Order: sequence, then structure tokens, then C-alpha cells
Amino acid sequence: MRDWVYSLSVKGRFQRIHRWTGLALQAFLFGTPWIMVAGHPAVQFDIGAGRAFLLGNVFTPRDTIFLVLLGLFAAFSLFFFTALYGRLWCGYACPQTVFLEEWVRPIETFIEGERGVRRARDQRGWTFDRIWRKAAKWSAFAVLASVVAMTFVSWFAGARPLWSGSASVAAYGFTAFFAVTMFLDFAWFREQFCNYLCPYARFQGALADDGSLVVAYQAELGEPRQSRSTRVSKAKAAAAPPVAVAPVAPVVAVAAVAPAEVEGEGRCISCDKCVAVCPQGIDIRQGFQLECITCARCVDACEGVMQKSGYAESLIVYKPLVKQPAVRPRTIAYGTLLTGLAVAMGVLLAGRGELDATVARAPGTLYTVDTDGWIRNTFLLRVSNDSLEPIDISVTALLPGAELLVPPMHVAAAASGMAPVVVRIPPGGSEDRTLPLVLVVSAGDTHVDVRTTFKSGG
Ligand code: SF4
Ligand code: SF4
Repeated sequence: MRDWVYSLSVKGRFQRIHRWTGLALQAFLFGTPWIMVAGHPAVQFDIGAGRAFLLGNVFTPRDTIFLVLLGLFAAFSLFFFTALYGRLWCGYACPQTVFLEEWVRPIETFIEGERGVRRARDQRGWTFDRIWRKAAKWSAFAVLASVVAMTFVSWFAGARPLWSGSASVAAYGFTAFFAVTMFLDFAWFREQFCNYLCPYARFQGALADDGSLVVAYQAELGEPRQSRSTRVSKAKAAAAPPVAVAPVAPVVAVAAVAPAEVEGEGRCISCDKCVAVCPQGIDIRQGFQLECITCARCVDACEGVMQKSGYAESLIVYKPLVKQPAVRPRTIAYGTLLTGLAVAMGVLLAGRGELDATVARAPGTLYTVDTDGWIRNTFLLRVSNDSLEPIDISVTALLPGAELLVPPMHVAAAASGMAPVVVRIPPGGSEDRTLPLVLVVSAGDTHVDVRTTFKSGG
């Protein structure tokens, strides 16, 4: 039976970082399908047409190697940052965390109240109060899941056709699938996704080492924990009217309210706030746990508690299990691989032209002899335009004495086109059976040479 996690809201410096990283990632997700760069979406993976638009660049199947390198770069970046900073991705950049932190939990708290109120209401059974609040919350989650699913599918089907109702049935089918999946995640699955389904969570143990940052309880400061009676008496003391402090001596005032360490007791007051705020439902004081997504909610919660007790530092902090230098064999290996991949991508990008052409012999005989005696070879020329402007194509044949017949060829932006190309040589033009042939395909100032052979039958 699942132990439902009722996490408490928390504020603090790491939650502010969450807010900003979450806002940046959501701006990217929600903005890029709509922002147009050179007439195309800033990000779109047009699978049907076999092309991808990325910030004003278009990638086609001939760029597969580049996309493979990009995928490897992303994977090794994750490895590299995991080795250095642990589950940074989970805590700050994972869409699951971002949507749960920025939308799901605030909506839940707004409609159902804080942790204690929610739990008490749920324990009372299906009262009218519980029913309408659940209905309102799930309706809000359904709207949120639908918007996120539409936005995600916009990356593939295009935002304008999708939101205007003119996309394909398949696009709406995928949208419905993602919306239902996300709704179930928001409403029910939540932390179980991290614990049971997420592949990264499964293999992050192999990526991190003892030098990677984790969220850890400083037992040397917190233990042995204070008893409840000590906590209550401290709470009473804290609730007592403040002692007037001379405004000219603020430093002395801080020192005056700083707590005295109680011999034989640590600083942890057993308030369990670190447990109450944890979205994974764990108690980090029991030591490192694989379920921890390093979201630092417990760090902020304890920092607030400690500050009220007069201490500056949280008992729960980011730190490595064992202090190690950042430069170590694992980080050197990942860093070297990343550098190599970055260089390879840079070289590929620098040498990447926007015009590409291939030629294939037209099906049928290798050559034909026309009525005027000229020998004819027919090819099919395919031209890919990887620019964001339409182009007009001209073709010349590098074969002495050859005549070339090509229809006018216009290729739309980020598209490809095909045209028949006829090459003829005069009778007796060659005694060789096979002649090297170069077709120079030009568009404006750019051109590519396509090499093939001419069959003369000689
Ligand atoms: S929030 Fe801090 S003081 Fe409270 S139980 Fe957790 S570690 Fe102890
Ligand atoms: S113990 Fe819980 S609250 Fe603390 S960082 Fe880990 S997942 Fe977040």
C-alpha cells in the first residue's frame, strides 16, 4: 500500500533558484514552438518531412551524424555534471520536477490547503468538502496536462496547425496520450516515477562517485537530537518577548540571542520539518538514499528552523560523501570526451553547406542512341536545400562535347526537389565505354560537384 506523500510548502534560497531555472525552462518549452526565426519555428522536429529547425538552422537526414553527436554530447554532459554535482538534473532541470514544483504543488496547496489540512481531510473519507476540492484540483491538473501536451507536440507538429485544429489526427492522438499520461503523473504517480520508472535515476548511482555532491545531513552538528521537552522549552523561550537591544550595537545583539550549545545535545530539534517538506517522502537524516532528487527543500526547511534557533547554517547541506578534488579520473574522462565531441560538432558545422545534391541513373537501359545518333544517359538529380530561402538551381556537365538538358528547377526553403537530367554526347564522341562525369549543381554563389559516370556503349 502506497504511503501518500503530503509535502509541506517551503521557502528559501534554493527554492528561489528552482523558481528561476523553472521559469527559464518553461520559457524555452512554451516559447520556442511560437517564436519564428527566418519564417520557421525556433524549434521544430518535422518528422514527416524529415527535417528539424533549430534556431534558424535546418537539419535534414544528411545531418544525422551531427544529430548523433549532439545526442552524445547531451548524454556525456549529463554524465559529467552528475559526476561533479550529483543529481543536479533531477533537482533543477527535470520536467517532472519543474512541473511538480512550479504548478502541481502550488495548485494543490491553493485548493486543498497545506500538508496537515490535506491529510486530515483525506483521512475523514469522501466528504462533500473533499469531493469538490479533489474535482477542482484534478480539473486544474487536466488543463495543465493538456496545455503541456499540446506544447510538447507543437515541437513536432507545429504550434500553429496544432492549436488551430488543422494538424493531423495522429498529432491529436499523441497529444491526448501525453495529456492523459501527464495527468496521471500529476494526480497520482508523482515521486513513484523517479523511484520506479526514470532510467536516469536507475543508472545515476553508476555515474556519480563519492566526490559527487549529494544532499546530506550533518550528523556531527545535529546529533544527538534534542528531546521533545528541550524543543518545547526552547520554543517557549523563543516565544518570549524580545529583549530591548540598543540600536547602536547590532553585532552585540546578534551575539546575545545566539544559542548556547547544550552539552550532550546536537542542534537538531527533531521538528521533522525536513521530512515534512520532502517530495520523495524520505528522512535524509538516515543517510544518503537513492530516492533523494537533491531538490534541497529539506536544506531550506532546516535553514529556516536553524535561523530561528540562532544558527546561520542548515543542518542539511550540499556536500560530497567524501571530499575529493573536482579534477579526478572520472571527470577528466568525461571532460575529454565532451571536448572531443564539441570539436567534432564544430568541424562538422563549419564544413556544412546548405546545398546538397545526389544523382542516380534513371531506371531502364544504361544508355540509348537517339535518332540523330547522339548517345543519351538519363539521370535523376535530387537537390536538398538546407537554407531557409528558396533557391533556383542551375546545372552544368563537365564532359567534353556533352549536351545537357535539365528542366528549370526551383527548390523551396528547407526542402528537396528532384528533376531528370539528360546528358548527350555526339556519335563517335568517345571510344571508352564509361566516362567520368561531373555535374556541377549551383544555387547563387554556392555549388556542389556530383560525380557519376556516363555510359557511351563505345
Ligand atoms: S529540519 Fe533540521 S532541525 Fe528539524 S528535524 Fe530536520 S534536521 Fe532536525
Ligand atoms: S531529502 Fe527530500 S527534500 Fe531533501 S533533497 Fe532529497 S528529495 Fe529533496
